[in-house]
Amino acid sequence: MVARVAVVGGGYAGLAAATELAAAGAAVDVFEASRTLGGRARAVELEGLTLDNGAHILVGAYTETLRLMRLVGAPADGLLRLPLHLEFPGHFRLHAPRLPAPLHLAWALLSARGLSWSDKFAAIAFMRRQRHAAFRLAADTTVGALLAEEPVATRRFLWEPLCLAALNTEPSRASAQVFLNVLRDSLAAGRAASDLLLPARDFSSLFPEPAARFIEAHGGRMMRGTRIECIRHVASGYLVDGHGPYGQAILAVAPQHLPPLVDELPELAPVVAQLQSYAWEPIVTCYLAYPESVRLPQAMLGVIDGTAQWLFDRGHTHGHGGLISAVISASRRHREIDAQRLAAEIHAEVAQIVPNLPAARWTRVIAEKRATFACTPGVSRPLTSTALPGVYLAGDYVAGDYPATIEGAVRSGVAAARLALHQAARSQP
Ligand SMILES: Cc1cc2nc3c(=O)[nH]c(=O)nc-3n(C[C@H](O)[C@H](O)[C@H](O)COP(=O)(O)OP(=O)(O)OC[C@H]3O[C@@H](n4cnc5c(N)ncnc54)[C@H](O)[C@@H]3O)c2cc1C
Repeated sequence: MVARVAVVGGGYAGLAAATELAAAGAAVDVFEASRTLGGRARAVELEGLTLDNGAHILVGAYTETLRLMRLVGAPADGLLRLPLHLEFPGHFRLHAPRLPAPLHLAWALLSARGLSWSDKFAAIAFMRRQRHAAFRLAADTTVGALLAEEPVATRRFLWEPLCLAALNTEPSRASAQVFLNVLRDSLAAGRAASDLLLPARDFSSLFPEPAARFIEAHGGRMMRGTRIECIRHVASGYLVDGHGPYGQAILAVAPQHLPPLVDELPELAPVVAQLQSYAWEPIVTCYLAYPESVRLPQAMLGVIDGTAQWLFDRGHTHGHGGLISAVISASRRHREIDAQRLAAEIHAEVAQIVPNLPAARWTRVIAEKRATFACTPGVSRPLTSTALPGVYLAGDYVAGDYPATIEGAVRSGVAAARLALHQAARSQP
C-alpha cells in the first residue's frame, strides 16, 4: 500500500491524477476550493438549467481522457461522437466520411465546398509535407509564419479556425510546433482521432463527478469547498494547511493559483519565476435562449468574420431545445463591448443562419478571462517533477505536447500520478 498522497485541485488534471492513483491502490486526498468539481470545465446553474462555464469540444484523439472516463464508469451517453464536420454556412463545408485513414482526410479535403481545386491540392500537399517532416520544426515559429505560403481560403476556413479552436491563441502569435502536434494526433492520425466528441452532459458530470465516486470507492477522500492556502515541508513530509503530513503532493491548480500555494517552498521559486512570463487568453461564452422550435442545421457551426467563432445548438446535444451557445476564443473585440451588445451581435449572426429568428427569451455571457495560457512559440512550461522530491505539478500548462486543453490536463495528471507511484515503489522497504 502506497502512503497517502495529497492532490490539490479538482479540475480535470487533479482528478485524472487522483483516479490513476486510486486505481493503483494508493490512498489519495483531493482538496478542491470550489464545491463544484471540474475547474475550468465545470457545470454552472443558469436560469434553472445546468449548463457549462463554456462550450467545450473534445476530439477522438483525446485518448487518455476517454480511457479515464471509461475507467471511472462515466455515462456512456456523455459524448456524441460525430465524424469531423466543419461548416461555415454559405462559405465552406468539410465532412470526413467513415473511411479508413488517410482516405477519410483526402476525401474530406477533395470534396470540401468553398475551396478551389488548387486550394484542395495545396491543403493535401501541406499535410504531406508535415507528415514527411514527422510534424517537427527545426525551430518553433508562429502559425502565421508556418501558413504564410498557403492559399487564403485554406488559411481562412481550415487552418486558422483549427488553430484558434485548439490553441486559443491568434495564429499570428500561436506556436506552430504545438499546432503541428495537434494536427499530427488528430487530422493526420487514424480516422477516429479526428472525430468530434460533442458533450451531451454538463462538464462536471462528464468526468469529475464519476471520478470522485471512483476515488471514494477506492478509499480516497474528496475535500470539496476546501481552499488550500499553503503547502509546507516538514521532517515527516508535506503539510497541506492543517492536513497531513503526506509523503507526496500533486499540485494541480491553474498556473495563476500556484505562486501563493508554494510561497513557503523556496525550491519552487524557479517555477514561480517561470510562470511570471505567462500571458493569458480569454474565452467568452454567450448563451441565447430561443423558443424550443429554433434549431441550427448542425450541432456545431462556424461563423466567418463574426463576433462569435462557433455556435453550438444544445438542442442537438443536451436536449436543451432552443438554447444556443456561442464561443469567442482568444483576444477578440468582445473586450471592448458590453454583454448586451455582444449578445445582440451574436443574435444577428444566428439570424443569418435561422430564417425568421424570434427574439431571445434571455441571454447570458460568461467571460473566463484566464481561460488558457497564450500558447506562443517557445513558451516555457514547467516539468511535472519539481526540485522537491515528492512534489509534482499537474495541469494544462505543464510541459507536454498539447496546448491548454482537457487532454493536456488529463495527460499531465496521469504523468504526475505515475511519477508519484514510481517514487513510492522505490521508497518501500
Ligand atoms: C470557456 C473555456 C472553454 C474551453 N474549451 C475547451 C475545449 O473546447 N476543448 C478543450 O480541450 N479544452 C478547452 N478549454 C481548456 C480546458 O478547460 C482546460 O485546459 C482544462 O480544464 C484545465 O484543467 P486543469 O485541471 O489543468 O486546471 P483547472 O480546470 O483550472 O483546475 C484547477 C482546480 O484547482 C482548484 N484550485 C485552485 N486553487 C486552489 C487551492 N488553493 N486549493 C484548492 N483548490 C484550488 C480550482 O478551483 C480548479 O478546480 C476551455 C477552457 C475554458 C475556460
